[in-house]
Amino acid sequence: MTFKELGIAEPILRAVEAEGYTNPTPIQQQAIPILLKGKDLLGVAQTGTGKTAAFGIPILQHLFYAKNGYHGKRRIKALIVTPTRELAIQIGESLTVYGKHTGLKNTVIFGGVKQGKQVNALRNGVDVLIATPGRLLDLMNQGYISFHDLEYVVLDEADQMLDMGFIHDIRKIISKLPPERQSLFFSATMPKDIVELSRKMLGDFERVTI
Ligand code: AMP
Repeated sequence: MTFKELGIAEPILRAVEAEGYTNPTPIQQQAIPILLKGKDLLGVAQTGTGKTAAFGIPILQHLFYAKNGYHGKRRIKALIVTPTRELAIQIGESLTVYGKHTGLKNTVIFGGVKQGKQVNALRNGVDVLIATPGRLLDLMNQGYISFHDLEYVVLDEADQMLDMGFIHDIRKIISKLPPERQSLFFSATMPKDIVELSRKMLGDFERVTI
């Protein structure tokens, strides 16, 4: 199985090949076709499996094809929520690499630093927002973030977010998203609270376990 056989668009294919990826990992082989079909996904998988490209590539691909239909200022079309600053930064860097020929822009927001630079980045317009829950909710409450045009939401490392006490923030964030969207939910383990949260967040979904 190759990335080309998965139906990956040329600009992304070029970026992935330049990174030295020869074949998709198991989660990429399973998740990418589901996501390209537009279905919701429950992924039971850990970091290190190639999860970021598994969700990032189909999102970038869709946004790239739709790009000519977008006019004016960039608006947030994909939101990725992840528990830590380190993970958020890593995801942002990976998406920058995979999307370097697509013309799409991402930004990363997280707590523990002043918000000024993050607010400026949001004001300038982004296609993909990667965020930790606390700072995200904070900036949402201050009116800096509009999810009016949102098409994708990814909850990454859901069990870790639960362990860190982010469950209420996550619920609030999800309640503010447009219902017409594609939702992706990733967790390494599936305790009861996580199963419940995934049921609330996902529509008709397919499950991939690695
Ligand atoms: P992740 O699970 O997304 O954090 O990815 C783990 C590591 O695997 C990262 O360093 C990626 O750059 C790398 N990676 C992701 N997909 C592939 C692939 N298809 N072939 C080789 N390396 C990959």
